[in-house]
Amino acid sequence: MSATGVPRAVVLGGGFSGLEAAFLLRQRLGDKVDLTLISDQEEFIFKPNTIYIPFGLDPRSLAIPLALPLKRKKIQFVQAHAHEVDPVAKRVEADHAAYPYDYLIVATGATMRPEEIPGLGTYAKTIFTPTAMLELRPAFHDLLTAAVEGKRQRVLFVVPPNNKCSGPLYEMIMMLDSWLRKHGARGHVDLIWTTYEHSFIQAFGPRLHTTVLGEFTQRKIEGHTDFVVEKIEQGKAIYRNGEEVPFDLLVSFPPYAAATAFPGLPADERGFLQTDQDTRQVRGFPEIYAVGDAGDFPVKQAFLAFLQGDVAAERIASLVQGRIPEVTFDPVSMCVMEEFNRATFAQVPLRVTGRPDLPVEVRPEAMGDYRVGTSRAWRAGKAMLGMYLPWRFRAGNPFHSGLPWRGMELGLKVMSTVLAS
Ligand SMILES: Cc1cc2nc3c(=O)[nH]c(=O)nc-3n(C[C@H](O)[C@H](O)[C@H](O)COP(=O)(O)OP(=O)(O)OC[C@H]3O[C@@H](n4cnc5c(N)ncnc54)[C@H](O)[C@@H]3O)c2cc1C
Repeated sequence: MSATGVPRAVVLGGGFSGLEAAFLLRQRLGDKVDLTLISDQEEFIFKPNTIYIPFGLDPRSLAIPLALPLKRKKIQFVQAHAHEVDPVAKRVEADHAAYPYDYLIVATGATMRPEEIPGLGTYAKTIFTPTAMLELRPAFHDLLTAAVEGKRQRVLFVVPPNNKCSGPLYEMIMMLDSWLRKHGARGHVDLIWTTYEHSFIQAFGPRLHTTVLGEFTQRKIEGHTDFVVEKIEQGKAIYRNGEEVPFDLLVSFPPYAAATAFPGLPADERGFLQTDQDTRQVRGFPEIYAVGDAGDFPVKQAFLAFLQGDVAAERIASLVQGRIPEVTFDPVSMCVMEEFNRATFAQVPLRVTGRPDLPVEVRPEAMGDYRVGTSRAWRAGKAMLGMYLPWRFRAGNPFHSGLPWRGMELGLKVMSTVLAS
């Protein structure tokens, strides 16, 4: 208990799931909880829209300083790196101080491990951070200049094993195709796609595969599935099946691992915290929740991160209010993939399979909720989400809550009824 006699909840991480959980906890509990958020960054970054940086967007426009919205909601903000959780003493060690908790939400996200594929870190441009996206900008401009001068260029996109969020790289290749066409340079560029996946955007099921296949065919992108990259050498990628693919520019989204390992807590081989699937409680420690990319749900995605943050907050709120928690994690993913000339929407009810080669699949009993559609109008849907989320977080409000979300949800439902099937 805090000095004021209310329970202490500590949130680690100021990304999608951490902020969602913190803001929702405040909304549900008011002053009946003492809230602290520890983040090693002073800003929240709206990562989904970093895809626009290589094409000119200013990265600063995607940053939301954390101090003001947290202060507004009376959430103590500690800018520090949390390096240890002691689940027995119920204490977090962060830089120069320790923070006791009654409830802990670990929302520290993921990081990249390009070094798992020899040569990837040396020869590939990557897309995980705004800085990496900024480095792609001159690379795309050099590509355009060479293509306009009539020099044939080969751009290879690679999804290696253990990447847990391939969608943004699919966005990048389609956007690059549209951008090159707009500049009249596509004729001099070969676009090649290789992925370790058995189907395109495997996690989102057969309809996404069919949609991407159609897009690749129409855009004359050479696409390969089951291409497991083993190493990169200067100017070529080498695969387990013996294939070698040459390139002038290589763009990749490297393998994932947990951003911070917490040795006191149960984790898989990549450091992702092992949780109860429904409640997001860390195995063996019911007062600790792992949400978003930090947890062991096989697909790492902002929309799923929000849902998990909500579950943790709702369950803690119930416990504090003396009620039995009822809310559970229903993994229905939603995304809008930018292509510049149009966008693809997907709503995908998922279930975990336990199979390493197919860790999630579309839930057979929820096929009616599995919707995919491609249209120019979905670009407006993406833009709407891009305005709605920063507006909510700047004000210190959760994404998935209240009248504004019900309005957004209704809009998306109407759009998906008309523009997806
Ligand atoms: C280019 C790109 C495009 C994407 N597009 C989409 C999209 O269109 N739709 C979608 O749903 N998802 C998308 N994603 C995925 C989405 O961004 C992530 O799934 C989401 O950010 C996960 O949220 P999170 O809260 O778990 O982690 P994060 O948002 O990564 O936040 C974690 C936070 O914790 C902090 N932290 C880490 N370790 C510590 C520590 N030890 N102490 C204190 N703080 C710590 C980090 O600095 C960070 O601020 C995209 C990702 C990328 C890279």
